[in-house]
Order: sequence, then structure tokens, then C-alpha cells
Amino acid sequence: MFYHQLYLVLLLVLITININSLALTIDPKSNTVHLEAPNLSGQYHNNRPSLLFSSNVNKIELISKADVINPCNGTFIKTNGTTCGLKEIMLGRCYQYQYIQRGLYLSNTTAVKNCTELYELFESEVRFKPYCNMNMSTYEKYFQRALEGVHVINRAIFWSGTYAITHTYSAHGHNYITLEDTLAANMLDGLMWCGKENDPQGFDYVSCPNNCQDNRWADLAFWGLASKTFAERVAGEIYVVLNGSRTDGRPSYRNGSYFAEFELPNFQRTGPYRVTKINILVLHTPDLPVVERCGEKSIIHLEHLIRDAQFEYICIDDPDELLLIMCGDSWGARECEVARTALRRAWDFKVFGKSNANYYPLSLLLLFFTGIFCQMLSN
Ligand code: NAD
Repeated sequence: MFYHQLYLVLLLVLITININSLALTIDPKSNTVHLEAPNLSGQYHNNRPSLLFSSNVNKIELISKADVINPCNGTFIKTNGTTCGLKEIMLGRCYQYQYIQRGLYLSNTTAVKNCTELYELFESEVRFKPYCNMNMSTYEKYFQRALEGVHVINRAIFWSGTYAITHTYSAHGHNYITLEDTLAANMLDGLMWCGKENDPQGFDYVSCPNNCQDNRWADLAFWGLASKTFAERVAGEIYVVLNGSRTDGRPSYRNGSYFAEFELPNFQRTGPYRVTKINILVLHTPDLPVVERCGEKSIIHLEHLIRDAQFEYICIDDPDELLLIMCGDSWGARECEVARTALRRAWDFKVFGKSNANYYPLSLLLLFFTGIFCQMLSN
């Protein structure tokens, strides 16, 4: 009887130890700080007005007539028109990029560019000009100058439906280089603008057209040419990150996307800056259904296009490095649980020389042998 009571007490103690050790090994919230990171596609960067800012539209209606011409009026509010402080943001980004970030990864041969000259090249094509008159040559001079001397060899990365994760992975050009990691695109990424005739500012700060009915090239003028010019300047092995679990019903590789229309057709096949191999990386968001994998649906079509253009082709579903970023962003996802526990164990071992997670199997073993021992004594 006494041994049974002793066994019960031991059992309770060990269960408590197990629960604590489980909490240490499985519950990430107990001893970690979790910072929210962007999801796979995250925020799209597009020079299109958003219909989401209705509250700001109301704000515009309440302000005076003078302010309607330029609702920014020295402050930075979000409107459906040109981004407030466009010029200052562009110049600031240009200096930041060249004087602060530059030393980190750009080569010594890339000459520092004149930020004012770049801004003026951009402005001269837009200011006082109606937005819907733009076409694919509008920004030619800007890109020629801003991308002069830039050739990305073996480090260029493209994205379609995967803006956020691709940029986390590229790490501002430290690992790979996206279009937005170049000075030319960095100065405008996420901003909006449209010119306006007969306006003192020359820009429409209230509202930019949603789309130009008679001229689709107006909508593609900047990012279309940006994509094309960048694609012409990449060489060697390149990477393309696709979304294998799109929730918007679009395929992973889509005709009419910027990647399909302006990037893939402009990779060089000959010359010193020719592309040799295209690595397609298909990602599947944790906790979302898998829609396409390598060798399936639209990715088969993409493979044919790439092979027909005589590029070497390889497709990988969820490479390890990106898997870790995805799980870092979706810490609580079902598919990430085992990795989380394994990482905790490895890190505890690295930091404390022992793994807290070992308490769990060890205490179970102890419980098992104590049970046998008590059983033997009671017999
Ligand atoms: P995507 O499907 O993720 O689209 C990117 C953005 O462009 C989204 O906002 C989308 O709504 C818009 N878009 C796509 N096709 C469009 C079209 N035909 N007309 C008007 N808007 C369109 O991916 P994607 O289309 O393949 O574009 C991503 C690629 O193109 C990247 O490799 C990048 O180099 C380049 N790009 C960059 C930007 C940017 O804002 N930084 C914009 C477009 C394209």
C-alpha cells in the first residue's frame, strides 16, 4: 500500500516536470518574443491607386478648396493620388541607397549617380503630363541613366505573387538582388504618382486614374520598362520565386503578369551577359492548401517556355532556406511545429550545453523505471 502511495506521489511529481518541460519545448510564447513578419506575397507594390483609403477620401472632402489642389499641403497623408512628398522621398531614398547602403554590396565599379539629375529625368517625363499619355518609352532616359553600369551576375532574383518573402530572402541585396534592390526601382517602389496639366503642382495629389481605357501601356509604363530593363541586365544563374498556393485563383505562372510579359522574354540568350540557368522556386504557404507544384499545371507551361528558349531549367519546391523564412513568419503553423521543437532543442544545446527538451524523454524513462521498481517492491 505504502509503495503504491509512493508511486502515486512520484507519478504526480514527474507529470508536473513533464508538463513544465513540454511548455519549455513546445510553447514558443513562453520564452520567446515573436515579431510579426510579412507573409508570402505581402503588400503588393504597385503604382495604382487603392480603393481602400475611403476614410482619407472623406478627409479630402472636408478640407478647403486650396487644399484639394494639393491635400498634402506640407503634411504626409495618404490619398488616392500622387504620394505626398514624392520628390523628397525619391531624393532621400537615392542618397540613402548610395551613401549608406551602397558600401554594403554594390561593386566599386558602380559609379555614384547624381540624385538630382535622376529625379529631374523622372520628373521631366511626368510633371504637367497627363498620366494616360504615358507609354513604354516614357521613362527610357531615366532607366538608361539609373541602371547604367548595372549587371547582376548569378544573384538576380524575380518574384510573382511572392513580393514579401522574396525581399526577406534577398535581404536588400545582401543575398540576392531583386528589381527593387536596384537604385532605379528602389527610388519609386511602393510610391504612386500621376502628372496633371494646367495644375500649379504639375502632379495630381488627389486621385490618379485607376486604369487608362484606351492605353493599357500607360499603366505599364514605369514597372513594365523597369522589369524589361532589369531583365536585360541579369546574367548567369537567375532565380524566380513563385507562389504555389495563391488564394486569388491565379496560377503560379500567369500570362500577362510582369514576369511573363516583361522579364522572361528579355533574358539575354547570347553575349557576355547571357542567362544560363533559370532556377524556379515554388513556395507553399504554411497552413494553406497546395495549388501547384513543380511539374504541374502552369509550371509545366513555364518549363516549356524556358527550355524552348535554350535556358537550363530546374524547379525546386520549398527550398530549405525559404522554408525556414516561411516558418519564421508563420510560427504557429501546423507544418512548422516539429521544426520549432527541433530548433529549440538545438539552440538550448548551443546556449546552455544541454537541451531542455531532453527533460521530456528522460523523465518519461524515469517514470517507467520507477513504476517497475515500485511494482517489484509491492510484490
Ligand atoms: P504579381 O502577380 O505579384 O504582380 C505584381 C504587381 O503588379 C501586383 O500589384 C499586380 O496586381 C500588378 N500587376 C501584375 N500584372 C499586371 C498587369 N498586367 N497590369 C497591371 N498591373 C499588374 O507579379 P508579376 O506581375 O509577375 O510582377 C512581379 C515581377 O515584376 C517582379 O519580378 C518584379 O521584378 C517586377 N515588378 C515589380 C513591381 C513593383 O512594384 N516593385 C511592379 C510590377 C512588376
